[in-house]
Amino acid sequence: MKFELTEEHLMIQKAARDFAQNELLPGVIERDNEQRFPAEQIKQMGELGFLGMMVDPKYGGSGLDTISYVLAMEEISKVDASASVVMSVNNSLVCWGLEKFGTEEQKEKYLKPLASGQIIGAFCLSEPEAGSDATSQKTTAIDKGDHYLLNGTKNWITNGSTASVYLVMAQTDVEAGHKGINCLIVEKDQEGFVVGKKEDKLGIRGSDTHSLMFQDVKVPKENRIGEEGFGFKFAMKVLSGGRVGIASQALGIASGAYELALKYSKERKTFGKEIGKHQAIAFKLADMATEIDAARLLCIKAAWMKDNGQNFDRAGAQAKLFASSVAMKTTVEAVQIHGGYGFVKEYHVERLMRDAKITQIYEGTSEIQKIVISRDILRD
Ligand SMILES: Cc1cc2nc3c(=O)[nH]c(=O)nc-3n(C[C@H](O)[C@H](O)[C@H](O)COP(=O)(O)OP(=O)(O)OC[C@H]3O[C@@H](n4cnc5c(N)ncnc54)[C@H](O)[C@@H]3O)c2cc1C
Repeated sequence: MKFELTEEHLMIQKAARDFAQNELLPGVIERDNEQRFPAEQIKQMGELGFLGMMVDPKYGGSGLDTISYVLAMEEISKVDASASVVMSVNNSLVCWGLEKFGTEEQKEKYLKPLASGQIIGAFCLSEPEAGSDATSQKTTAIDKGDHYLLNGTKNWITNGSTASVYLVMAQTDVEAGHKGINCLIVEKDQEGFVVGKKEDKLGIRGSDTHSLMFQDVKVPKENRIGEEGFGFKFAMKVLSGGRVGIASQALGIASGAYELALKYSKERKTFGKEIGKHQAIAFKLADMATEIDAARLLCIKAAWMKDNGQNFDRAGAQAKLFASSVAMKTTVEAVQIHGGYGFVKEYHVERLMRDAKITQIYEGTSEIQKIVISRDILRD
């Protein structure tokens, strides 16, 4: 067993770190305040190959492994979790799903522009009454011979207004339950597709989260991913990979807050010495560093298992469960270490604290991760 990163991994980590520091850091506070999507930065991320990291170069991707993706996600998330959620959705949910399960025509038409970052995608499973219980789909895709007629509402969709391509889960055969769900590729300009209201959020405020409405949208049969009724299985498989991305996002939020807290602990003086020399603060830093290391190992283990063709469902859920809890804990402590300065925007840690919360909610809440993990343990 080797704990060292390869030369290539280190290079990618550095490229992501430089990009985050040089391009994302300036303006991140303003974008958060104004709920402004980092459009220019996302375009640059596409050009640098960060939006289709694991996709085969023949489909416009960077052809890298999942460990590289974890490392890049951590660096980007240290600075701007709004940019990293766009990266995570596009890489793990949209590109990976299309590459693994799409037809050659779908890959040519949709994966190429998505993986090369010319356009971005969205993954549409959640509905007003279907979140954790994703089998309760009310959106319908009625079979009309050569096309499906799509009707319904999706909620909380990341990249809701900025995506060009949407992977939409919908119920075709109600009697068949979750085996009657299909995943359809929908294009933004299709008639009857309406982007609804933008959510005003606690964190990741630079990302655009919208509800979407489909009113008699005609989706050609060739836009279905996989066999008839494969949609729910597709969503679960794709979300399993997505959890590695969100776990890495949580890891990055935690390590970003830790680095700021460490720096501040060496600068700020009280009672004649740096606050880091007070044991109460030093011990907080010790806990943060230990938990972040553990979270990173879980993320890299899940990524390694994925790259080696092993079942990583439990490893991904464990990484997400743990890293998201570390993100919450670390960011709260980072604010505490900054004292009053931690409570204002200029010092970044309050934003990281607000951003951390979502990692315990989306792509399966922490409670749902515990269901995934415990089912696997009890099956063993
Ligand atoms: C900013 C943001 C972006 C998002 N982006 C996307 C996206 O791009 N695409 C998409 O499809 N969805 C997206 N989501 C939706 C997200 O995945 C759901 O919000 C999440 O899965 C939880 O569903 P819910 O909100 O309906 O909560 P509910 O399922 O109603 O859960 C409410 C509470 O009950 C708990 N709970 C539910 N069932 C159980 C159970 N069986 N046992 C124990 N506890 C349980 C939950 O853990 C939670 O604490 C996003 C959400 C947000 C807020």
